[in-house]
Amino acid sequence: MAPLTPGKAFGMYCCGPTVYAPAHIGNFRTFLIQDVLRRVLESDGIEVCHVRNITDVDDKTIRRSQEQGRTLSDFTAIWTEKFHKDCRELNMLPPTIEPSAVAHIPLQIEMIAKLIEHGHAYVSSDGSVYFKVASDPHYGKFVDVSTLQTQTTNSAGEANSADEYTRDNVADFALWKARKPEDGPNFWQSPWGEGRPGWHIECSAMSTHYLGETFELHGGGVDLCFPHHENEIAQAECSCEHYGSFAQQWFHSAHLMVDGAKMSKSLGNLYTLDDLVNKGFAPMALRYVLISGHYRSQLNFTLKSLDDAASALAKIEKSVRKILAAAGMSEADFVAQEPDRQAPWGDFERAWKTLGNDLNVSGALGGIFGAVASLAKREMTPEEARTQLMGLTKILWALGLKLFTIKEKNSVPATSEAADVPAEIAAIGEQRWAAKIAKNWAESDRLRGELEQRGWKSLDRKDGYTLVKI
Ligand code: AMP
Ligand code: ZN
Repeated sequence: MAPLTPGKAFGMYCCGPTVYAPAHIGNFRTFLIQDVLRRVLESDGIEVCHVRNITDVDDKTIRRSQEQGRTLSDFTAIWTEKFHKDCRELNMLPPTIEPSAVAHIPLQIEMIAKLIEHGHAYVSSDGSVYFKVASDPHYGKFVDVSTLQTQTTNSAGEANSADEYTRDNVADFALWKARKPEDGPNFWQSPWGEGRPGWHIECSAMSTHYLGETFELHGGGVDLCFPHHENEIAQAECSCEHYGSFAQQWFHSAHLMVDGAKMSKSLGNLYTLDDLVNKGFAPMALRYVLISGHYRSQLNFTLKSLDDAASALAKIEKSVRKILAAAGMSEADFVAQEPDRQAPWGDFERAWKTLGNDLNVSGALGGIFGAVASLAKREMTPEEARTQLMGLTKILWALGLKLFTIKEKNSVPATSEAADVPAEIAAIGEQRWAAKIAKNWAESDRLRGELEQRGWKSLDRKDGYTLVKI
């Protein structure tokens, strides 16, 4: 990946949170994967302009603020602050720009006006404005429109004003919603009367405002493909009448499932960061779990996976302590060390290359396990050890992982360290264990085969494994 214009930043727009409640761990899966992508690009020397919006006006934010007797801005400020706090605990980089919908109403009105001017939108009798789907011959990037019914009204003959709808109906969607009594004081002036913007328009208006008509990459959870992203493309491209101009790449992350099921309040399996911290889990273990599955595959979250992640981190720390000793460096100095982009990757080159291959995080983690295990056993000068530790700092930064932050250590998988296991066999064993923890079965089987070829096998237990000669 590279910026479209050499010398300019790589534009990355990500749909942000709707701030009416704490974000759940599914939301964080998507935001964390975007954070890793950005870190990988920056580690590669690419300057990134990461824009992630805050949706601070919609049906949910208005309704909840009224239920609590707060102004919309006071209410959304509380949840925005909570979101930022969770992001910090999960060691996420703050976006370069974090525009809010409410702070950009005139920009949205401007885009709607252009859409009306170009014949892509119309004003309904109540002063709402709708996007005319039939006016956009390019509509249908993420759905096959020919298989869908186009409808401009709902079953009661009223215009469809819901922001979210299913693939069964391609509806003309609301760009501007005329003021309703239930909106209370939450309305703005527009050329079409008082009202508020629809949901989709904020992302088209703010992404193109900050990143230009054409930018490199747009991200979001897979649920946003339709209608949200479809509508974002339609609004942005029809307003400037440059088709194909909007985001050049789409980065959709598959959903997080919990105990094999979709997360939902009614199933009692919807977790926030606080829920897990209150159960004694560390944010860094959650980060490890949420980034470890491949972004295009659904990830199944279990509480046990947090224990496994904490054990995996403790295992890395155990080897790193030995490398620190060789380097004459303290844990505190290592934790405070900033990555030096120009420094060599050392033995972490393989982990870095693996990460660069379609963001193979679990493969990169396997590479880290292998490298720290073999370095822990290697004779090194302090200088060599320090060079290797810089390589480790760089790869950990790319993943956003921090060592030595989990106070309560969970069980560390016990290997047959004391026995006569050659370093390269131990390294393969550790990589296989990492692949197994990450549920990367194909990689785990491959490494098991590699061990067997060399005359070794791994006896697995619940909390670890022992390598024995066949
Ligand atoms: P929202 O606050 O609902 O607008 O969602 C914020 C982000 O989280 C969007 O990119 C969604 O697609 C994403 N998201 C929502 N649910 C999940 C889930 N279960 N797994 C992964 N991402 C999700
Ligand atoms: Zn969006």
